[in-house]
Amino acid sequence: MSDETVATDTDDARVRVAIIGSGPAGSYAAAHLLRHSARELHVDVFERLPTPWGLVRHGVAPDHPKIKSVTKIYERTAEHDRQRLFGNVEFGREITLADLRAHYHAIIYAVGTPVDRALGIPGEELGRSYAATDFVGWYNGHPDFRDLRFDLSGERAVVVGAGNVALDVARMLMLTERELASTDIADHALEVLATSQIREVQVIARRGPEQAAFTNPELLELADLSEADVVVDPDELALVDGLSDPTIDTTSRRNAEILREYAGTPPSGKPRRVVLRFLLSPIAIEGDRRVEGVTLARNELVASEDGSMRAKATDERISIPAHTVFRAIGYTGTPLPDVPFDERLGVISNVGGRVVGPEGVRRGEYVVGWAKRGPSGVIGTNKKDANDTVERLLEDLGGGRLLDPAPITDAALDAYIRERQPSVVDYEDWARIDKHEQKLGEQSGRPRVKLTRVQEMLAAAKRR
Ligand code: NAP
Repeated sequence: MSDETVATDTDDARVRVAIIGSGPAGSYAAAHLLRHSARELHVDVFERLPTPWGLVRHGVAPDHPKIKSVTKIYERTAEHDRQRLFGNVEFGREITLADLRAHYHAIIYAVGTPVDRALGIPGEELGRSYAATDFVGWYNGHPDFRDLRFDLSGERAVVVGAGNVALDVARMLMLTERELASTDIADHALEVLATSQIREVQVIARRGPEQAAFTNPELLELADLSEADVVVDPDELALVDGLSDPTIDTTSRRNAEILREYAGTPPSGKPRRVVLRFLLSPIAIEGDRRVEGVTLARNELVASEDGSMRAKATDERISIPAHTVFRAIGYTGTPLPDVPFDERLGVISNVGGRVVGPEGVRRGEYVVGWAKRGPSGVIGTNKKDANDTVERLLEDLGGGRLLDPAPITDAALDAYIRERQPSVVDYEDWARIDKHEQKLGEQSGRPRVKLTRVQEMLAAAKRR
């Protein structure tokens, strides 16, 4: 509990901020508001699902429990006595922008960029051509994805993209049942992955090793796979010898070193393999109704005007027979009702976190995280990003440039929201879901067994 509880429930001086989304960006924004603001500032977090923490729960791979432990920090913020959680409340459905404008001085969108980017090539829509975003949501037990079906009965999968999501997908396909069974992977995914026949995953980068978007620990940890060798063809790396990219950073340089080490290490004879390939762009996914292979163009690197290297297709074509394709080429945003959206960038239109519409800066509306800058960076990147936006909000608070809602008590506002969504999941309710999941996990030596249906979550939330 904070020692700052001076304002009373009927205090007209309260400044109310609504945050839409309880993932990392929303959690960091809340923390910065509560840390740096006047004591009468109150934060209500709206979350579409009954469970908080966004991509930490539904994006971070199950075999990365350390990354997930960041929720301990979010919990401390969520337990602050000037913050409330309204879970199971969807913006634009149960609660509208007009509702929020009537009751809050400011609104911060922290909704991420939830959908996959399309490759835009023939065959993308075939059966067994999957969006990595769907696969990730599915193995992490996101209720929207839990009923999807993944056919892993073939020997080779191709993963398009050279980012950390591509590596997550490759690892998840290569971990053994025993390794997966000690994680918080959704039960339905464990069942399917346990019987997977996939023996080889080819991860396809359109540019060279120095331009790959992996981070170093994620690339290095492939070597720890107990059942899969990491294979890099030295001849493919040699295609970029002598080229230098002045725009790359130390992470990229280290990536290239790690990849050269992989290329110089003969396979140790493990039963499965992850093959990392470079300078290849898929131009068609082949198959009759279902994926049977991928046709790729061999690329060369050419310097762009800013010096960075881009991929240019040569006339060379190669075919990889494959049973499944996972498209892991990044996420993009979807528009929220009544909120300006930049279709080209796939983010909420903003300048430095202030939402901007055709009429200019929108009073009292802000954006943080991937919805602000696009899907880049690691979880911690969202902290500075959220803090920067909150600083703009606090400047506007100081300058009298927020919204001007009629005063309302906490209790009246709570009643107003519950009138629109009677099944609100508040923080105590979530704590019950959390405890329930962890208890289920204890019985099988796992961190938790995730509930994957909203109705199950609501039942656990209300169980006393
Ligand atoms: P990402 O890092 O942006 O990587 C996307 C990859 O797809 C890039 O290699 C990109 O190549 C490639 N690509 C884009 N369009 C393509 C096309 N048309 N054809 C072929 N390849 C294409 O995206 P992400 O992997 O989805 O990750 C999103 C963010 O989450 C990243 O910041 C990532 O680091 C983070 N994340 C972190 C972790 C972790 O820390 N463990 C785990 C998962 C995700 P180009 O570079 O040539 O465009």
